[in-house]
Amino acid sequence: QAAPGGGGDADDAGGRAHFVFVPLMAQGHLIPAVDTALLLATHGAVCTIAATPATAVRVRATVDSARRSGLQVRLVEFPLDYAAAGMPDGADNADNVPVEHMWSYFRALPLLSAPIESYLRAHAPFPTCVVSDFCHPWTTVLAANLGVPRLSFFSMCAFYLLCQHNVERFKAFEGVAGDDEPVVVPGLEKRFVVTRAQTPGFFRWLAAWQEFADYIERAMAEADGVIMNTFEEMEPEYVAGYAAARKMKVWTVGPVSTYHHKRDATLAARGYAAAAIDAGECLRWLDGKEPGSVVYVSFGSVARAGGKQAVELGLGLEASGHPFIWVVRNADEYEELVREFLGELEARVAGHGLLVRGWAPQVLILSHAAVGGFVTHCGWNSTLEAVTAGLPVVTWPHFTDQFLNEKMAVDVLGIGVSVGVTEPLMYQTVEKEIVVGRGVVEAAVRSVMGAGDEAEERRRRARALAAKARAAMQEGGSSHGNLLDLVKRFKAVS
Ligand code: UDP
Repeated sequence: QAAPGGGGDADDAGGRAHFVFVPLMAQGHLIPAVDTALLLATHGAVCTIAATPATAVRVRATVDSARRSGLQVRLVEFPLDYAAAGMPDGADNADNVPVEHMWSYFRALPLLSAPIESYLRAHAPFPTCVVSDFCHPWTTVLAANLGVPRLSFFSMCAFYLLCQHNVERFKAFEGVAGDDEPVVVPGLEKRFVVTRAQTPGFFRWLAAWQEFADYIERAMAEADGVIMNTFEEMEPEYVAGYAAARKMKVWTVGPVSTYHHKRDATLAARGYAAAAIDAGECLRWLDGKEPGSVVYVSFGSVARAGGKQAVELGLGLEASGHPFIWVVRNADEYEELVREFLGELEARVAGHGLLVRGWAPQVLILSHAAVGGFVTHCGWNSTLEAVTAGLPVVTWPHFTDQFLNEKMAVDVLGIGVSVGVTEPLMYQTVEKEIVVGRGVVEAAVRSVMGAGDEAEERRRRARALAAKARAAMQEGGSSHGNLLDLVKRFKAVS
Protein backbone atom coordinates (compact mmCIF):
# COMPACT_ATOMS: atom_id res chain seq x y z
CA GLN A 1 0.00 0.00 0.00
CA ALA A 2 1.34 3.40 -0.93
CA ALA A 3 2.05 6.03 1.65
CA PRO A 4 2.41 9.59 0.36
CA GLY A 5 5.68 11.14 1.44
CA GLY A 6 3.96 14.23 2.78
CA GLY A 7 1.27 16.78 1.87
CA GLY A 8 -0.83 17.06 -1.22
CA ASP A 9 0.40 20.49 -2.16
CA ALA A 10 0.58 19.45 -5.79
CA ASP A 11 -3.19 19.96 -6.01
CA ASP A 12 -3.00 23.59 -7.11
CA ALA A 13 -0.84 22.71 -10.08
CA GLY A 14 -3.30 22.94 -12.97
CA GLY A 15 -1.56 23.18 -16.33
CA ARG A 16 1.84 22.28 -14.97
CA ALA A 17 3.95 19.41 -16.19
CA HIS A 18 3.81 16.48 -13.77
CA PHE A 19 6.73 14.07 -14.11
CA VAL A 20 6.53 10.68 -12.43
CA PHE A 21 10.05 9.42 -11.79
CA VAL A 22 10.57 5.68 -11.44
CA PRO A 23 14.27 5.36 -10.59
CA LEU A 24 16.12 2.10 -10.30
CA MET A 25 16.71 1.32 -6.64
CA ALA A 26 20.49 1.72 -6.85
CA GLN A 27 22.42 4.80 -5.73
CA GLY A 28 24.04 5.49 -9.09
CA HIS A 29 20.58 5.61 -10.72
CA LEU A 30 18.50 6.96 -7.85
CA ILE A 31 20.63 9.98 -6.88
CA PRO A 32 20.78 11.60 -10.34
CA ALA A 33 17.07 10.82 -10.95
CA VAL A 34 16.12 12.61 -7.73
CA ASP A 35 18.40 15.54 -8.56
CA THR A 36 16.79 15.77 -12.01
CA ALA A 37 13.31 15.76 -10.47
CA LEU A 38 14.34 18.55 -8.11
CA LEU A 39 15.80 20.58 -10.96
CA LEU A 40 12.59 20.19 -12.98
CA ALA A 41 10.63 21.24 -9.90
CA THR A 42 12.77 24.39 -9.54
CA HIS A 43 11.59 25.25 -13.04
CA GLY A 44 7.93 24.90 -12.13
CA ALA A 45 7.13 21.23 -12.69
CA VAL A 46 5.37 18.94 -10.24
CA CYS A 47 7.36 15.76 -9.62
CA THR A 48 6.43 12.47 -8.01
CA ILE A 49 9.24 10.04 -7.22
CA ALA A 50 8.25 6.40 -6.68
CA ALA A 51 10.54 4.28 -4.52
CA THR A 52 10.57 1.32 -2.18
CA PRO A 53 10.75 2.32 1.52
CA ALA A 54 14.35 1.18 2.01
CA THR A 55 15.36 3.28 -0.96
CA ALA A 56 13.17 6.28 -0.17
CA VAL A 57 14.87 6.66 3.21
CA ARG A 58 18.13 7.48 1.44
CA VAL A 59 16.72 10.52 -0.34
CA ARG A 60 13.98 11.51 2.09
CA ALA A 61 16.06 14.29 3.73
CA THR A 62 16.87 15.80 0.34
CA VAL A 63 13.28 15.71 -0.89
CA ASP A 64 11.87 17.02 2.41
CA SER A 65 14.29 19.91 2.32
CA ALA A 66 13.23 20.68 -1.27
CA ARG A 67 9.57 20.59 -0.20
CA ARG A 68 10.28 22.99 2.65
CA SER A 69 11.83 25.37 0.14
CA GLY A 70 8.54 25.30 -1.78
CA LEU A 71 9.23 22.80 -4.56
CA GLN A 72 6.27 20.67 -5.62
CA VAL A 73 7.85 17.29 -5.26
CA ARG A 74 6.64 14.20 -3.43
CA LEU A 75 8.41 10.99 -2.63
CA VAL A 76 5.98 8.09 -2.46
CA GLU A 77 6.80 4.71 -0.97
CA PHE A 78 5.71 1.44 -2.57
CA PRO A 79 6.80 -1.65 -0.64
CA LEU A 80 7.96 -4.72 -2.54
CA ASP A 81 6.30 -7.99 -1.65
CA TYR A 82 9.47 -9.90 -0.81
CA ALA A 83 7.72 -13.22 -0.21
CA ALA A 84 5.92 -13.09 -3.57
CA ALA A 85 9.19 -12.19 -5.22
CA GLY A 86 11.20 -14.95 -3.52
CA MET A 87 13.52 -12.33 -2.09
CA PRO A 88 15.27 -12.00 1.25
CA ASP A 89 13.30 -9.61 3.47
CA GLY A 90 14.40 -5.99 3.15
CA ALA A 91 16.64 -6.49 0.12
CA ASP A 92 15.33 -3.83 -2.18
CA ASN A 93 18.26 -1.71 -3.23
CA ALA A 94 20.99 -2.91 -5.58
CA ASP A 95 23.59 -2.42 -2.86
CA ASN A 96 21.94 -4.92 -0.52
CA VAL A 97 20.49 -7.49 -2.92
CA PRO A 98 22.79 -10.53 -2.96
CA VAL A 99 24.06 -11.21 -6.49
CA GLU A 100 22.29 -14.60 -6.54
CA HIS A 101 18.98 -12.78 -5.99
CA MET A 102 19.44 -10.13 -8.68
CA TRP A 103 17.30 -12.01 -11.15
CA SER A 104 14.41 -12.36 -8.66
CA TYR A 105 14.84 -8.67 -7.88
CA PHE A 106 14.41 -7.53 -11.47
CA ARG A 107 11.52 -9.97 -11.90
CA ALA A 108 9.87 -8.52 -8.79
CA LEU A 109 10.12 -4.83 -9.71
CA PRO A 110 7.14 -4.88 -12.16
CA LEU A 111 4.99 -5.71 -9.11
CA LEU A 112 5.30 -2.01 -8.32
CA SER A 113 3.43 -0.99 -11.48
CA ALA A 114 -0.17 -1.53 -10.31
CA PRO A 115 0.25 0.22 -6.93
CA ILE A 116 2.01 3.17 -8.61
CA GLU A 117 -0.80 3.44 -11.15
CA SER A 118 -3.53 3.31 -8.45
CA TYR A 119 -1.73 5.96 -6.43
CA LEU A 120 -1.42 8.28 -9.42
CA ARG A 121 -5.09 7.87 -10.30
CA ALA A 122 -6.11 8.67 -6.72
CA HIS A 123 -3.84 11.67 -6.11
CA ALA A 124 -4.08 14.76 -8.30
CA PRO A 125 -2.66 16.20 -10.41
CA PHE A 126 -2.79 13.56 -13.11
CA PRO A 127 0.69 12.82 -14.51
CA THR A 128 1.78 14.20 -17.84
CA CYS A 129 4.94 12.12 -18.31
CA VAL A 130 6.65 9.03 -16.89
CA VAL A 131 10.43 9.31 -16.54
CA SER A 132 11.66 5.77 -16.17
CA ASP A 133 15.07 4.39 -15.46
CA PHE A 134 16.03 2.42 -18.56
CA CYS A 135 16.25 -0.71 -16.37
CA HIS A 136 12.46 -0.65 -15.86
CA PRO A 137 11.01 -1.77 -19.21
CA TRP A 138 7.71 -2.53 -17.41
CA THR A 139 7.00 1.20 -17.13
CA THR A 140 5.95 1.05 -20.81
CA VAL A 141 2.77 -0.61 -19.50
CA LEU A 142 2.41 1.94 -16.70
CA ALA A 143 2.72 4.88 -19.12
CA ALA A 144 0.38 3.24 -21.65
CA ASN A 145 -2.26 2.59 -18.97
CA LEU A 146 -2.03 6.22 -17.90
CA GLY A 147 -2.05 7.36 -21.52
CA VAL A 148 1.05 9.55 -21.10
CA PRO A 149 4.46 9.66 -22.81
CA ARG A 150 7.43 7.86 -21.32
CA LEU A 151 11.03 9.09 -21.32
CA SER A 152 14.05 6.88 -20.59
CA PHE A 153 16.36 8.18 -17.91
CA PHE A 154 20.09 7.49 -18.20
CA SER A 155 22.72 8.28 -15.60
CA MET A 156 25.19 7.58 -18.38
CA CYS A 157 27.03 9.61 -20.99
CA ALA A 158 26.09 9.77 -24.65
CA PHE A 159 29.55 8.53 -25.66
CA TYR A 160 29.00 5.26 -23.83
CA LEU A 161 25.40 4.87 -25.00
CA LEU A 162 26.31 5.48 -28.63
CA CYS A 163 29.32 3.11 -28.52
CA GLN A 164 27.22 0.37 -26.90
CA HIS A 165 24.37 0.92 -29.36
CA ASN A 166 26.71 0.86 -32.37
CA VAL A 167 28.50 -2.27 -31.21
CA GLU A 168 25.11 -3.97 -31.09
CA ARG A 169 23.39 -2.56 -34.18
CA PHE A 170 26.44 -3.10 -36.42
CA LYS A 171 27.09 -6.53 -34.85
CA ALA A 172 30.72 -5.66 -34.14
CA PHE A 173 31.39 -8.92 -32.32
CA GLU A 174 29.87 -11.28 -34.86
CA GLY A 175 32.45 -13.95 -35.58
CA VAL A 176 34.73 -12.69 -32.80
CA ALA A 177 35.45 -15.65 -30.55
CA GLY A 178 37.11 -14.29 -27.42
CA ASP A 179 35.56 -11.89 -24.93
CA ASP A 180 38.91 -10.14 -24.74
CA GLU A 181 39.49 -9.69 -28.49
CA PRO A 182 39.64 -6.01 -29.43
CA VAL A 183 37.37 -4.55 -32.12
CA VAL A 184 36.94 -0.98 -33.31
CA VAL A 185 33.60 0.61 -32.33
CA PRO A 186 31.76 0.97 -35.67
CA GLY A 187 30.06 4.12 -36.92
CA LEU A 188 32.24 6.72 -35.17
CA GLU A 189 34.65 9.20 -36.70
CA LYS A 190 37.32 8.61 -34.10
CA ARG A 191 38.79 5.20 -33.42
CA PHE A 192 37.99 3.49 -30.13
CA VAL A 193 38.90 -0.12 -29.45
CA VAL A 194 36.81 -2.26 -27.10
CA THR A 195 36.35 -5.89 -26.19
CA ARG A 196 33.05 -7.73 -25.75
CA ALA A 197 33.75 -7.98 -22.03
CA GLN A 198 34.04 -4.19 -21.88
CA THR A 199 30.77 -3.60 -23.78
CA PRO A 200 28.54 -6.45 -22.64
CA GLY A 201 25.31 -4.52 -23.23
CA PHE A 202 22.53 -4.13 -20.74
CA PHE A 203 22.01 -7.47 -18.97
CA ARG A 204 23.47 -9.35 -21.96
CA TRP A 205 26.29 -11.12 -20.16
CA LEU A 206 24.26 -14.00 -18.76
CA ALA A 207 22.38 -16.48 -20.92
CA ALA A 208 19.37 -16.46 -18.57
CA TRP A 209 18.91 -12.70 -18.96
CA GLN A 210 18.60 -12.51 -22.77
CA GLU A 211 14.83 -12.16 -22.79
CA PHE A 212 14.99 -9.38 -20.22
CA ALA A 213 17.78 -7.69 -22.22
CA ASP A 214 15.54 -7.81 -25.32
CA TYR A 215 12.67 -6.33 -23.31
CA ILE A 216 14.92 -3.46 -22.18
CA GLU A 217 16.06 -2.82 -25.75
CA ARG A 218 12.43 -2.72 -26.98
CA ALA A 219 11.48 -0.33 -24.18
CA MET A 220 14.43 1.95 -25.03
CA ALA A 221 13.57 1.90 -28.73
CA GLU A 222 9.90 2.68 -28.06
CA ALA A 223 10.54 5.54 -25.61
CA ASP A 224 9.27 9.01 -26.43
CA GLY A 225 12.66 10.51 -25.69
CA VAL A 226 15.68 10.37 -23.46
CA ILE A 227 16.87 12.35 -20.46
CA MET A 228 20.61 12.11 -19.83
CA ASN A 229 22.81 13.30 -17.02
CA THR A 230 25.48 14.89 -19.19
CA PHE A 231 25.90 18.23 -20.97
CA GLU A 232 26.05 18.97 -24.62
CA GLU A 233 29.26 21.02 -24.74
CA MET A 234 31.25 18.12 -23.30
CA GLU A 235 30.28 15.60 -26.00
CA PRO A 236 28.25 17.32 -28.75
CA GLU A 237 28.97 14.75 -31.47
CA TYR A 238 27.94 11.84 -29.26
CA VAL A 239 24.74 13.47 -28.01
CA ALA A 240 23.77 14.21 -31.62
CA GLY A 241 24.95 10.75 -32.71
CA TYR A 242 22.84 8.96 -30.12
CA ALA A 243 19.76 11.06 -30.89
CA ALA A 244 20.18 10.30 -34.61
CA ALA A 245 20.84 6.59 -34.08
CA ARG A 246 17.78 6.22 -31.85
CA LYS A 247 15.75 8.70 -33.91
CA MET A 248 14.57 10.37 -30.75
CA LYS A 249 14.88 13.60 -28.85
CA VAL A 250 17.62 13.67 -26.21
CA TRP A 251 17.45 16.16 -23.36
CA THR A 252 20.83 16.57 -21.68
CA VAL A 253 20.18 18.07 -18.25
CA GLY A 254 23.45 17.69 -16.36
CA PRO A 255 25.50 17.88 -14.37
CA VAL A 256 22.51 17.37 -12.09
CA SER A 257 24.62 17.26 -8.90
CA THR A 258 24.81 21.07 -9.25
CA TYR A 259 21.28 21.16 -7.82
CA HIS A 260 23.03 20.87 -4.44
CA HIS A 261 25.53 23.66 -4.97
CA LYS A 262 24.72 26.44 -2.53
CA ARG A 263 22.53 23.99 -0.61
CA ASP A 264 25.06 22.71 1.92
CA ALA A 265 22.63 20.71 4.04
CA THR A 266 21.28 18.61 1.18
CA LEU A 267 24.76 18.33 -0.31
CA ALA A 268 26.04 16.65 2.86
CA ALA A 269 23.04 14.30 2.96
CA ARG A 270 23.01 13.50 -0.75
CA GLY A 271 22.27 9.86 -1.49
CA TYR A 272 22.28 8.25 1.91
CA ALA A 273 20.46 8.51 5.18
CA ALA A 274 23.67 8.64 7.21
CA ALA A 275 27.17 9.30 5.97
CA ALA A 276 29.94 7.41 7.79
CA ILE A 277 31.66 10.68 8.57
CA ASP A 278 30.25 13.97 9.76
CA ALA A 279 30.35 16.55 6.95
CA GLY A 280 31.74 19.23 9.30
CA GLU A 281 34.55 16.95 10.44
CA CYS A 282 35.37 16.14 6.85
CA LEU A 283 35.49 19.80 5.87
CA ARG A 284 37.66 20.69 8.88
CA TRP A 285 40.09 17.93 7.89
CA LEU A 286 40.21 19.28 4.33
CA ASP A 287 40.57 22.89 5.54
CA GLY A 288 43.92 21.92 7.05
CA LYS A 289 45.35 20.79 3.70
CA GLU A 290 47.05 22.71 0.90
CA PRO A 291 44.89 23.56 -2.14
CA GLY A 292 44.84 20.77 -4.71
CA SER A 293 46.94 18.43 -2.54
CA VAL A 294 44.41 15.74 -1.51
CA VAL A 295 43.47 12.72 -3.60
CA TYR A 296 39.96 11.32 -3.08
CA VAL A 297 39.50 7.57 -3.62
CA SER A 298 36.14 5.87 -4.05
CA PHE A 299 34.70 3.01 -6.08
CA GLY A 300 31.10 4.19 -5.81
CA SER A 301 28.11 2.48 -4.27
CA VAL A 302 28.42 -1.05 -5.67
CA ALA A 303 32.05 -1.90 -6.48
CA ARG A 304 34.35 -2.97 -3.71
CA ALA A 305 38.06 -3.81 -3.64
CA GLY A 306 38.79 -7.37 -2.54
CA GLY A 307 41.07 -7.93 0.49
CA LYS A 308 44.35 -8.21 -1.44
CA GLN A 309 43.40 -5.24 -3.56
CA ALA A 310 42.58 -3.13 -0.53
CA VAL A 311 46.06 -3.79 0.88
CA GLU A 312 47.80 -2.88 -2.39
CA LEU A 313 45.65 0.21 -2.82
CA GLY A 314 46.34 1.36 0.73
CA LEU A 315 50.10 0.86 0.38
CA GLY A 316 50.11 2.61 -2.99
CA LEU A 317 48.29 5.62 -1.58
CA GLU A 318 50.66 5.78 1.37
CA ALA A 319 53.71 5.55 -0.90
CA SER A 320 52.40 8.32 -3.17
CA GLY A 321 53.05 10.79 -0.37
CA HIS A 322 49.83 12.69 -1.13
CA PRO A 323 47.21 13.26 1.54
CA PHE A 324 44.15 11.15 0.79
CA ILE A 325 40.55 10.41 1.67
CA TRP A 326 39.81 6.77 0.94
CA VAL A 327 36.22 5.54 1.05
CA VAL A 328 36.36 1.88 2.09
CA ARG A 329 32.93 0.42 1.43
CA ASN A 330 31.86 -2.53 3.58
CA ALA A 331 35.17 -2.40 5.48
CA ASP A 332 33.74 -4.71 8.16
CA GLU A 333 33.34 -7.51 5.60
CA TYR A 334 37.09 -7.91 5.18
CA GLU A 335 38.88 -10.81 6.83
CA GLU A 336 40.70 -10.15 10.09
CA LEU A 337 44.15 -9.60 8.52
CA VAL A 338 42.86 -6.96 6.11
CA ARG A 339 40.96 -5.18 8.88
CA GLU A 340 44.16 -5.16 10.93
CA PHE A 341 46.06 -3.76 7.96
CA LEU A 342 43.52 -0.97 7.58
CA GLY A 343 43.75 -0.11 11.29
CA GLU A 344 47.55 0.00 11.17
CA LEU A 345 47.56 2.07 8.00
CA GLU A 346 45.13 4.49 9.57
CA ALA A 347 47.41 4.90 12.60
CA ARG A 348 50.51 5.40 10.41
CA VAL A 349 48.90 8.03 8.19
CA ALA A 350 46.90 9.81 10.91
CA GLY A 351 46.34 13.45 9.95
CA HIS A 352 47.56 12.70 6.43
CA GLY A 353 45.17 10.02 5.25
CA LEU A 354 41.52 9.63 6.19
CA LEU A 355 39.64 6.33 5.84
CA VAL A 356 35.86 6.60 5.56
CA ARG A 357 34.29 3.23 6.34
CA GLY A 358 30.95 3.55 4.60
CA TRP A 359 29.18 6.40 2.82
CA ALA A 360 31.05 9.65 2.19
CA PRO A 361 29.58 13.06 1.27
CA GLN A 362 31.29 12.78 -2.11
CA VAL A 363 30.23 15.93 -3.93
CA LEU A 364 30.89 18.00 -0.82
CA ILE A 365 34.43 16.57 -0.67
CA LEU A 366 35.07 16.98 -4.39
CA SER A 367 33.97 20.61 -4.21
CA HIS A 368 36.62 21.46 -1.58
CA ALA A 369 39.64 23.41 -2.83
CA ALA A 370 42.04 21.03 -1.05
CA VAL A 371 41.07 18.15 -3.34
CA GLY A 372 43.25 17.85 -6.42
CA GLY A 373 42.40 14.47 -7.93
CA PHE A 374 40.01 11.54 -7.80
CA VAL A 375 40.77 7.81 -8.05
CA THR A 376 37.47 6.55 -9.45
CA HIS A 377 35.86 3.34 -10.65
CA CYS A 378 34.46 5.48 -13.49
CA GLY A 379 30.80 5.19 -12.57
CA TRP A 380 29.29 7.89 -14.74
CA ASN A 381 28.04 10.00 -11.83
CA SER A 382 31.46 10.01 -10.22
CA THR A 383 33.15 10.81 -13.52
CA LEU A 384 30.79 13.72 -14.16
CA GLU A 385 31.15 14.91 -10.56
CA ALA A 386 34.93 15.01 -11.11
CA VAL A 387 34.39 17.02 -14.29
CA THR A 388 32.06 19.40 -12.47
CA ALA A 389 34.65 19.93 -9.74
CA GLY A 390 37.37 20.48 -12.36
CA LEU A 391 39.41 17.48 -11.20
CA PRO A 392 41.67 15.09 -13.12
CA VAL A 393 41.07 11.40 -12.44
CA VAL A 394 42.85 8.09 -12.02
CA THR A 395 40.58 5.63 -13.83
CA TRP A 396 39.93 2.15 -12.46
CA PRO A 397 36.86 0.63 -14.17
CA HIS A 398 35.13 -2.41 -12.66
CA PHE A 399 32.15 -3.31 -14.88
CA THR A 400 29.62 -2.32 -17.61
CA ASP A 401 29.77 1.27 -18.84
CA GLN A 402 32.82 2.03 -16.69
CA PHE A 403 35.29 0.90 -19.37
CA LEU A 404 33.91 3.33 -21.91
CA ASN A 405 33.60 6.05 -19.27
CA GLU A 406 37.33 5.53 -18.75
CA LYS A 407 37.91 6.11 -22.48
CA MET A 408 35.74 9.20 -22.22
CA ALA A 409 37.92 10.57 -19.38
CA VAL A 410 41.28 9.52 -20.82
CA ASP A 411 40.90 9.68 -24.61
CA VAL A 412 37.98 12.04 -25.26
CA LEU A 413 38.34 14.59 -22.46
CA GLY A 414 42.05 14.15 -21.71
CA ILE A 415 41.66 14.40 -17.94
CA GLY A 416 42.49 10.83 -16.86
CA VAL A 417 45.32 8.39 -16.22
CA SER A 418 44.41 4.69 -16.33
CA VAL A 419 45.60 2.06 -13.86
CA GLY A 420 45.34 -0.37 -16.76
CA VAL A 421 42.47 -2.68 -15.79
CA THR A 422 41.06 -4.08 -19.05
CA GLU A 423 38.78 -6.87 -17.81
CA PRO A 424 35.63 -6.72 -15.70
CA LEU A 425 36.24 -7.16 -11.99
CA MET A 426 32.62 -7.80 -11.01
CA TYR A 427 29.24 -9.14 -12.13
CA GLN A 428 30.34 -10.51 -15.48
CA THR A 429 32.17 -13.82 -15.56
CA VAL A 430 35.34 -13.07 -13.69
CA GLU A 431 37.87 -15.82 -14.33
CA LYS A 432 40.85 -14.63 -12.37
CA GLU A 433 41.45 -12.28 -9.51
CA ILE A 434 43.01 -9.13 -10.92
CA VAL A 435 44.99 -7.10 -8.41
CA VAL A 436 46.48 -3.72 -9.30
CA GLY A 437 49.83 -3.53 -7.52
CA ARG A 438 50.88 -0.81 -5.07
CA GLY A 439 53.53 0.47 -7.53
CA VAL A 440 50.92 1.04 -10.24
CA VAL A 441 48.64 2.84 -7.79
CA GLU A 442 51.49 5.04 -6.58
CA ALA A 443 52.60 5.91 -10.12
CA ALA A 444 49.06 6.75 -11.30
CA VAL A 445 48.40 8.95 -8.26
CA ARG A 446 51.75 10.72 -8.64
CA SER A 447 51.06 11.24 -12.32
CA VAL A 448 47.65 12.86 -11.75
CA MET A 449 48.61 14.84 -8.64
CA GLY A 450 52.14 15.80 -9.57
CA ALA A 451 53.82 18.74 -11.28
CA GLY A 452 55.00 18.61 -14.87
CA ASP A 453 53.49 19.70 -18.17
CA GLU A 454 51.24 16.71 -18.74
CA ALA A 455 49.70 16.90 -15.28
CA GLU A 456 49.25 20.68 -15.64
CA GLU A 457 47.62 20.25 -19.03
CA ARG A 458 45.21 17.65 -17.58
CA ARG A 459 44.30 20.01 -14.77
CA ARG A 460 43.82 22.87 -17.23
CA ARG A 461 41.45 20.76 -19.34
CA ALA A 462 39.54 19.66 -16.24
CA ARG A 463 39.10 23.26 -15.09
CA ALA A 464 37.94 24.33 -18.55
CA LEU A 465 35.36 21.53 -18.56
CA ALA A 466 34.11 22.56 -15.13
CA ALA A 467 33.54 26.08 -16.40
CA LYS A 468 31.53 24.67 -19.33
CA ALA A 469 29.56 22.45 -16.95
CA ARG A 470 28.63 25.45 -14.80
CA ALA A 471 27.67 27.47 -17.86
CA ALA A 472 25.43 24.64 -19.12
CA MET A 473 23.39 24.81 -15.92
CA GLN A 474 23.07 28.59 -15.84
CA GLU A 475 20.43 30.71 -17.50
CA GLY A 476 21.06 30.56 -21.24
CA GLY A 477 23.03 27.29 -20.89
CA SER A 478 22.20 24.10 -22.78
CA SER A 479 21.09 21.95 -19.84
CA HIS A 480 19.15 24.82 -18.31
CA GLY A 481 17.37 25.29 -21.64
CA ASN A 482 16.60 21.58 -21.88
CA LEU A 483 15.07 21.56 -18.39
CA LEU A 484 12.86 24.49 -19.35
CA ASP A 485 11.92 22.76 -22.59
CA LEU A 486 10.88 19.59 -20.72
CA VAL A 487 8.70 21.59 -18.34
CA LYS A 488 7.06 23.38 -21.25
CA ARG A 489 6.67 20.43 -23.57
CA PHE A 490 5.04 18.13 -21.02
CA LYS A 491 2.62 20.70 -19.64
CA ALA A 492 -0.86 19.46 -18.80
CA VAL A 493 -3.41 20.18 -21.50
CA SER A 494 -6.41 21.69 -19.79
N1 UDP B 1 28.38 8.40 -3.61
C1 UDP B 1 28.49 9.17 -2.47
N2 UDP B 1 29.19 8.67 -1.41
C2 UDP B 1 29.79 7.45 -1.44
C3 UDP B 1 29.67 6.67 -2.62
C4 UDP B 1 28.96 7.17 -3.69
O1 UDP B 1 27.97 10.29 -2.40
O2 UDP B 1 30.42 7.07 -0.45
C5 UDP B 1 27.57 8.90 -4.73
C6 UDP B 1 28.42 9.54 -5.81
O3 UDP B 1 28.60 10.91 -5.56
C7 UDP B 1 27.59 9.27 -7.06
C8 UDP B 1 26.87 7.95 -6.75
O4 UDP B 1 26.90 7.82 -5.34
O5 UDP B 1 26.64 10.28 -7.24
C9 UDP B 1 27.55 6.74 -7.36
O6 UDP B 1 27.28 6.69 -8.71
P1 UDP B 1 28.35 6.23 -9.79
O7 UDP B 1 27.68 6.29 -11.12
O8 UDP B 1 29.60 7.02 -9.67
O9 UDP B 1 28.73 4.75 -9.39
P2 UDP B 1 27.87 3.46 -8.98
O10 UDP B 1 27.69 3.54 -7.53
O11 UDP B 1 26.58 3.50 -9.75
O12 UDP B 1 28.76 2.33 -9.40
